[in-house]
Amino acid sequence: MPITPAQFPEIINRISASINQHADAVTELDQAIGDGDHVYNLQRGIEALQTHSNDIVNLDWPAAWQKIGMTVMAAIGGASGSLYATLFLSLAKNSKDKPVNIDTFTEAFALAVEAVKQRGKADVGEKTMLDVWVPVAQALKQSVASSKTLAEILDTVCSVAENGVENTREMLATKGRASFLGERSKGHIDAGAKTAQLMIAAIADQLQQAAAS
Ligand code: ADP
Ligand code: MG
Repeated sequence: MPITPAQFPEIINRISASINQHADAVTELDQAIGDGDHVYNLQRGIEALQTHSNDIVNLDWPAAWQKIGMTVMAAIGGASGSLYATLFLSLAKNSKDKPVNIDTFTEAFALAVEAVKQRGKADVGEKTMLDVWVPVAQALKQSVASSKTLAEILDTVCSVAENGVENTREMLATKGRASFLGERSKGHIDAGAKTAQLMIAAIADQLQQAAAS
């Protein structure tokens, strides 16, 4: 079954439930090395996307990514707002006028993660959400190239995301607010990496369930 924006309301509701469920734990992480508003920022964005989900279901993927990016940009404050807006607007740009399939998505997604790196002037190893998004984009490329099933691809991506989160723990933060703490940023997981992983897991759960039904 092709994955279309018709599944968007279920996906965004699942993301919302997961972020809400882990809100206190993630806020604790963010209070340790950030300013504690990351979950609140994401929740604003998710609520705005839920409000617009009835429009999004009727769009094709490039137009849906564009709408999602614009909505996120308007609704989310903080570094994460402009970074997620960049991710979705770049997905829109790089999937325009192309057939929709796992290969074109994988290609567009890798370019979108590159755009986020440029936007934040950051890369893996700096204790940010990129420590999840970059290895996930690479794992997606590798598992699609080796013709794995959708279930296998999703499993791989989810475990790579979990490792990415754990890897941030001992990193020294060199970007974002956590970098102000220098050495004291070590020993804490990055909140933005954790929420990226939670969102990926929620999307994967929804896609696995849809594929099974
Ligand atoms: P702010 O840092 O402006 O308060 P948020 O609290 O919403 O914004 O988001 C913080 C998260 O954003 C961090 O945990 C980190 O994962 C991510 N982040 C911060 N700066 C960058 C950057 N330059 N590149 C990539 N991700 C970043
Ligand atoms: Mg913050």
